[in-house]
Amino acid sequence: MTTLVIATKNAGKAREYRKMLAPHGITVKTLADFAPIKIDENGTSFEENATIKAQTVMAALNLPVMADDSGLVVDALNGAPGIHSARYAGDHDDAANNAKLLHELAGVPDEKRTAHFHTTIVALKPDGAKLVANGRVDGRILHERHGENGFGYDPLFFVESLGKSMAELTADQKNAISHRGAALREFMAKFPEWWRA
Ligand code: IMP
Repeated sequence: MTTLVIATKNAGKAREYRKMLAPHGITVKTLADFAPIKIDENGTSFEENATIKAQTVMAALNLPVMADDSGLVVDALNGAPGIHSARYAGDHDDAANNAKLLHELAGVPDEKRTAHFHTTIVALKPDGAKLVANGRVDGRILHERHGENGFGYDPLFFVESLGKSMAELTADQKNAISHRGAALREFMAKFPEWWRA
């Protein structure tokens, strides 16, 4: 077994995952390498959605698959936008999503604007072996956008330990502290055993 499919069409994500997997001598493919696969992401948690993606793609291709699901969890909004982060206000419309987040938090003081980003990675093999890895980063939602880097809610997410918004970090700085970076490091720590099993 030498091929692993990453259940994403996002070129940036694919690049990051490829880089981590390169030393393992594995051919990494993405959904862009295959005919379209319809995925009904109707789970109620990050892990459920990542599992649905991995399961659907594995059933279609009969190859080992890894999938991830991420989002922003805001305490004062009872966990919203959570698994709905990408489509909170508009479909992958970062500006609209950020504007809605600021609107929902209008009047909420700093100490109650706590939040975290979460990522769950799920990998499945046709023999049923499953690997789950999680990562999170804690922060606070700002009152206005700061910084131009990153994507999504990064300009509104303040990282206390660095005194900067996520969008003010370089890609390497973000990877070192981010939810996705943490999940990916846990994934890689568990990967050799799962791959060999
Ligand atoms: P995905 O599951 O990784 O595609 O993430 C779903 C949505 O969560 C994205 O469309 C963003 O709105 C938000 N999100 C996930 N990760 C990040 C991040 O690192 N920075 C900002 N927003 C993120």
